[in-house]
Amino acid sequence: MSDNSLRVVWVYPDLLSTYGDQGNVLVVERRARQRRLSVSRIDVRSDQPVPTSGDIYLIGGGEDRPQRLAAERLRRDGGLSRAVANGAIVFSVCAGYQILGHEFVNDLGEREAGLGLLDVVSTRGEGERCVGDVLADIDTQLRLPQLTGFENHQGITQIGPGAKPFARLRLGKGNGTGDGTEGAYNDTVFGTYMHGPVLARNPGIADLLLKLALDVNALPPADDRWYEALRAERIAAAQQPA
Ligand code: GLN
Repeated sequence: MSDNSLRVVWVYPDLLSTYGDQGNVLVVERRARQRRLSVSRIDVRSDQPVPTSGDIYLIGGGEDRPQRLAAERLRRDGGLSRAVANGAIVFSVCAGYQILGHEFVNDLGEREAGLGLLDVVSTRGEGERCVGDVLADIDTQLRLPQLTGFENHQGITQIGPGAKPFARLRLGKGNGTGDGTEGAYNDTVFGTYMHGPVLARNPGIADLLLKLALDVNALPPADDRWYEALRAERIAAAQQPA
């Protein structure tokens, strides 16, 4: 953490922010402030350099063309990769998740290089688009409650040996390869297909990002009532027969 305030960087809101993914930034900021941490939020548009001294970087989902533009600019800029080399924590959703991997298939049907920050490779799924509610059990090592979110993507993602599945599916398609996995992570970089916004539905994940950034094992309790009500409603809705 640089100086006294936690630096939360929202990467490319002009290209990567679908289905309310901006909510992820708001939740991280709010959960930090509830613990009386001072936070500075830095929104980095795609024509600006990505700062390398952030503590937590958040990247959202996007349509296919903005996703390609974002990947090109992030590769050229290099700031996000340098931030990860400096130990920053990154949490990415859907298109953002695919961009952090080694490669994905772009809107032109071509293989496009990602940043290689997460050992995953994405391709275009041959079947139907993965759309709908998702429930999954987050890797037990992370000690977090059930994951709730919704997905809407054509890409599917294969995890390599350098990353672990973020969660195991109970409902939904997740990584879409049929192996029952959803998302991927390593020590500092996380990817998921979940929208929701996912951190509003799963504030425990926001707290995990804060703990990793602050290098602490625990945070003071925060008021979770609103989040719990939302979680209960969405988990019940997901379990309704179609
Ligand atoms: N364009 C990507 C896909 O369809 C990601 C979509 C998204 O971010 N919602 O796989």
